Amino acid sequence: MRLEKRAVLVFGAMSRRPALVVLAVVGVLLLASVIAIFHGIWTRQTSAAASVREDALWTTYLIDREIGRTIETLGALLDGRPGVTLAEVGLRFDILYSRHEVMEEGDFPTKFLADPILSGLSEEISDRLHALIPVFDRIESANPPDLVELAVVRQNLVAAQVLTGDLLVATNRVRADIQVDERAAMTQDFQALAAAVGGLTLAMGAVIWLIWRQMAQLEISRRRLQILSEELKSSAEAATAGNRAKSAFLATMSHEIRTPLNGIVGMAELMASECTDPGRHEQLETIRRCAEGLCGLIDDVLDFSRLESGSIELEMRPVVIGDVIEDVVDMCVPRIEGRDIVLVASHPIAAYETDPTRLRQVLFNLVGNAVKFTERGTVAVVARERRSKSRGTTLRFEVEDTGIGIEPEIVGRLFGEFTQADASIRRRFGGSGLGLAISRRLVEAFGGRIGVTSRPGQGSIFWFEIPVKPAAIVLPRPTGRLVEIDVVDRHAKVVSLLAHDLGHLAPSVDAVLREGRSTRWTLVDVASYEASVRDGAGFDASRTIVHGIGARRHAGEVAEVAEGAMTTGRLARILARVSGSPLPSRTDTAATRAARAVPAGERGRVLVVEDNEVNRRVVVGLLGRLGFTCEIATDGAKAVDRLTRPGIDIVVMDMQMPVMDGLEATTRIRAAEGADQRVPIVGLTANAFASDRAQCLEAGMDDFLVKPVTRDRLAAALDRFAKDPGPQTAPTEVASDADAIAAAPPIAEGDGGPLVDRDRRRLLVAELDRETLDELTRIFWSDAEALGTELARALADGDLPAFRRHLHTLKGAAANVGLPGIVEAIDRLRRSEGSPSAEDVGRLSAALSATRLAQIADDAELAAAA
Ligand code: ADP
Repeated sequence: MRLEKRAVLVFGAMSRRPALVVLAVVGVLLLASVIAIFHGIWTRQTSAAASVREDALWTTYLIDREIGRTIETLGALLDGRPGVTLAEVGLRFDILYSRHEVMEEGDFPTKFLADPILSGLSEEISDRLHALIPVFDRIESANPPDLVELAVVRQNLVAAQVLTGDLLVATNRVRADIQVDERAAMTQDFQALAAAVGGLTLAMGAVIWLIWRQMAQLEISRRRLQILSEELKSSAEAATAGNRAKSAFLATMSHEIRTPLNGIVGMAELMASECTDPGRHEQLETIRRCAEGLCGLIDDVLDFSRLESGSIELEMRPVVIGDVIEDVVDMCVPRIEGRDIVLVASHPIAAYETDPTRLRQVLFNLVGNAVKFTERGTVAVVARERRSKSRGTTLRFEVEDTGIGIEPEIVGRLFGEFTQADASIRRRFGGSGLGLAISRRLVEAFGGRIGVTSRPGQGSIFWFEIPVKPAAIVLPRPTGRLVEIDVVDRHAKVVSLLAHDLGHLAPSVDAVLREGRSTRWTLVDVASYEASVRDGAGFDASRTIVHGIGARRHAGEVAEVAEGAMTTGRLARILARVSGSPLPSRTDTAATRAARAVPAGERGRVLVVEDNEVNRRVVVGLLGRLGFTCEIATDGAKAVDRLTRPGIDIVVMDMQMPVMDGLEATTRIRAAEGADQRVPIVGLTANAFASDRAQCLEAGMDDFLVKPVTRDRLAAALDRFAKDPGPQTAPTEVASDADAIAAAPPIAEGDGGPLVDRDRRRLLVAELDRETLDELTRIFWSDAEALGTELARALADGDLPAFRRHLHTLKGAAANVGLPGIVEAIDRLRRSEGSPSAEDVGRLSAALSATRLAQIADDAELAAAA
């Protein structure tokens, strides 16, 4: 449409251009003719002046006058007037003759003597004057003319005077004729001049008209363009608004879809944990996997729309790069379990200022793809620091796989939206085709670049580079005895990466080389180790480190095992351990604590027995972060039932639950188990009274935690029962609530105070993430509504135990999502004398409303601040 308009405009301009050229040429010609005509007039004018100067009339007049004077002088001489001499007469005649000569020369003969009368007269005068010359010539001689001769001369002169009089008249007539002719010619010139000037004026008018039209056309085009640009602006604004609306819609929709999906995942997990039929178990697993896949897809779409609307901002903070890479490879480990793939990562032992969440997301997508599209071989994640004067410090990441590779013609489109290699890939591997598009946008948001090199059938290297700033964090490195390590692996890539890392880590133990206390170790992957055991070759077990998925099987058999993917960080820790200078299991700076996550399943399986969804999800989320895998039981009876089967390492048990409470369940579990298979049980309660503690321990619990639970307190309570010591907890944190209870005032005894515990909510965002907290809060409020109804019903039925249990549940959940206003209201209700009344429930419901408003306002404030 726009192109068409432009074409019309161009065409219009073209059609007027020749007209302008023609007009310009005509104008120039007319101007030239005006100049020529003017020049003609000017010449005519100046030549007329000349003819005036030599005016024939004047000449003939002078002749006529001079002949009169000569006659007069001659008469005076003849009359004898004194003083008049013959010489004087001769002089007069000479003057007369010279006048006549002037007439014979100049313009006169050409212009006037063409007239026959005039020329006849002139000739006759000339003859008469010539006839007198001999007489006058004798005046000065010895024989001067006598008086008689002079009288004859006088008669001849008088006769000639008649002729000069006629000549004067005739000349006057001819001059008048010439003037008439000249005037006619001048009139013609003026007419031509007028015509040329008229033409010129017309041409000028036409040019002005054309220019005016062009300007009018230009004005129309300008206005059209203005309208077009306004239209474009408003459509761009509409598009932006639409995009924003789309993003908001997607955010809401994905949130709404995610919530039931989470329910499906949770319920499928729960049913699978209770299901003994292997067929059903598998079906439930499929349901769970599909629901999780859907969750991932929704997250991708949401992320993409956020990136598209430009509403994603990077949050830069100091990050230990090894921790991010370890998180990513650990998250991918479950996907390669049972497959012949080795996952390995090599990275600098260093910290940088960057956004760990977004970096993890890009890496996770690339490593996830590499794992997805590789059947056997290696997936290697390599991060290297580069420094240059022009670009500063950059980190280059490479994810190299030995997978199916990508056809060259597809490579160019890979980073576009919804791109997949081909339909067969979609059918075989699934996926949305958004992962790489999201990664590209994220890398661009970092100010970096992303790319790929690939060979079909041989594998791919996806790489990206992002600018970073080195962070001012010094990371511990292994020191101590020197160790020599032989690397044994089936894959050359793994050997070369491990050798590179050992080479970089070794200088730190160089100092002890001279003391000669070196010991030789073997670092071997699980498969090679098992093969060598089968072959009977074996290694020196006391100097062997087995790593890889399933390495845990050989714990106790060899000196060290490193379960999961090998990374430089893990290698450094192993190196430190075997050289006698153990490092913390993960970097534990305040800056990186929020970003860390320990691989699920490494530290044991925890049965979380909790009826309230909010509490359950908080605990499960935190335990996941601590490296535990969770199973769920929604009441004590189910927990007792689950514990009849093996597989649970620790139980986290709520006190108040429907069907069977935590105390009774614990008593039953303890009664059922043998002395050698005691499972640790950690109680969870919303009450922090000493009596609660006594009850817990009496029933057979090993420890207990007061809600709200935090990761550090959960870690402190569970660490001693875990298989792996796990991340170090900050020494300032309390060991567990059972130890701290005497020192800390029970939470229930506070009075007044804020309705919303902002610190707690911030902590939950850091521990679980914002979306999870929002979801927990939403679930809490819908639970709170249901519990309000239950409370009213229990009150009406006079069912006090149920009333107390509901209060307990509400309090625990409120404490967990950081809403002390409700905790406080429940405690007030409990402290009130006598049995609870409808007014008490009314007051509680008012407190709920007030807290809800405060929480919404607080969240909005926090979001605005962010
Ligand atoms: P998806 O969610 O479908 O995996 P991506 O954007 O992450 O979307 O990837 C797009 C396509 O790129 C994939 O469908 C696949 O065809 C190709 N691809 C990505 N990574 C690899 C890889 N490591 N090896 C082979 N093909 C890959």
